[in-house]
Amino acid sequence: MENSCRKKYKPSPKKWILASRRTGFRRNSALVPANAGLFHYAGNNPVRYIDPDGRKISIVAPSLGDKEYVKKIRNLIKQASKSSPEFAMAYKAIKDNPNITVMIQMTKKPGESAKTECCDTKAKMEHRPSNSIIYIDPDAIVISKKTGLVSPPVAGIAHEMQHAYDNMLGIYDESQDVWEEHGGEKIFIYNKLSESRAIDLENSVRVRLKLPYRDSYDGYEVNIKPENTFK
Ligand SMILES: [Zn+2]
Repeated sequence: MENSCRKKYKPSPKKWILASRRTGFRRNSALVPANAGLFHYAGNNPVRYIDPDGRKISIVAPSLGDKEYVKKIRNLIKQASKSSPEFAMAYKAIKDNPNITVMIQMTKKPGESAKTECCDTKAKMEHRPSNSIIYIDPDAIVISKKTGLVSPPVAGIAHEMQHAYDNMLGIYDESQDVWEEHGGEKIFIYNKLSESRAIDLENSVRVRLKLPYRDSYDGYEVNIKPENTFK
């Protein structure tokens, strides 16, 4: 089960692989143990996906060509890099690391919140570098049902980039895992350190682009840099 992504994954000369779900790489869901290695952008709470007009988003991937998806993701990365030197640095560090590949692809369902999958959960637990897959819908604006926070895709790409960067650095502190009990069952909510780091990078983009500052992980406490850090 461990290292599954690398085994299945053909090395490519291209560092960044942007692919829609129509292209070759297919995720084997059996390789993903519940909660391990998964970061949920908006937490495990139900979120609704609406555009700024309040209408439901009902578009994207299936009708989008690969080229268009790639173009949109590139634009998001460009926008994030331009606004935030912290983002540009993390992105460059991943790009410059010959041993790490980060794949960016469409979410399973359009409008779904972005997430990052660690390709090697064993390595992650042992604080060794691992590859990542970022799932993101470049057209989705996610609004948290719990906090009302609006998250455009540029905030999402910044957040997920930090998760991918942490996977590359082998930064993970299991003791910061937060669990909740529901009906006698322990449910993983989030890792406080990972989410705090991801929200910091996200806020470095948000504040510069005059988007609302994010102050929690969907209502859950985080240990993040104050807003004026990025002003
Ligand atoms: Zn996250």
